[in-house]
Amino acid sequence: MPDMSSFDRRAFMARAAAVAGGAALIGAADLTRSRPVRAASAPHVYTRAEWGARPPTATAEIIAAPDHLVVHHMAFPNSTDYSLSHAFQLSRDCQDLHMDTNGWSDTGQQLTISRGGYVMEGRNRSLEAIGKGANVMGAQTANNNGHTLGIENEGTYTSVLPPTALWNALVKTLAWLCDDYGLDPHASIVGHRDYVSTQCPGDALYAKLPQLRNDVATALGSSLTAERATPYVRTDLPGPGRSGDHGPAVGAHEHP
Ligand SMILES: [Zn+2]
Repeated sequence: MPDMSSFDRRAFMARAAAVAGGAALIGAADLTRSRPVRAASAPHVYTRAEWGARPPTATAEIIAAPDHLVVHHMAFPNSTDYSLSHAFQLSRDCQDLHMDTNGWSDTGQQLTISRGGYVMEGRNRSLEAIGKGANVMGAQTANNNGHTLGIENEGTYTSVLPPTALWNALVKTLAWLCDDYGLDPHASIVGHRDYVSTQCPGDALYAKLPQLRNDVATALGSSLTAERATPYVRTDLPGPGRSGDHGPAVGAHEHP
């Protein structure tokens, strides 16, 4: 059980119980239940139709709710084009990379955020799944895709931090997901490198994860802040093999 000294334990437990009950009953009938997302706290998420996604080569599998939310950087350039049109192009470029270069069925991650702060659906059926309190099988954290949801953030954060617009959108997105899934931000928000050996999400952004968890907790109405110390930032991690390579995303027994 995560420590939640000042976190709203009763509300958290109620949500956790609801999630656990849903997970125990997971199946075709259960996954079609209506579970409205709280519109007040949800960020605007642009759909695949809006950014002009290609059809995937396979329909994503809907799986149980995630227990961890994985923060990534895309290892793309730190663009100063903060427009919506650039964000849509980013999603198309990422999908092309994942399908044409990596050979995956579709975009790997469930959600993408541009440096301008635009939030976009990644893998097909991601919004459908989130709306049901569920998840889709993605390709973003090797050997852990069956229980995690990945958020790809445009840019490279090895030595600089994301712009404010991206940070604020990431906080809002994580708060929405924690609320939807009944997750404690301090226990559930992790970086890609917490699972595999990778530079992702960059030393600078990784060092800010304690603040990110605190900001998400604040957005959820919790008074719990500064609970965790700054994490140890490893400096011997492998860098990207090429532009857009953010580290191992698919395990030997996973089908991207
Ligand atoms: Zn990553």
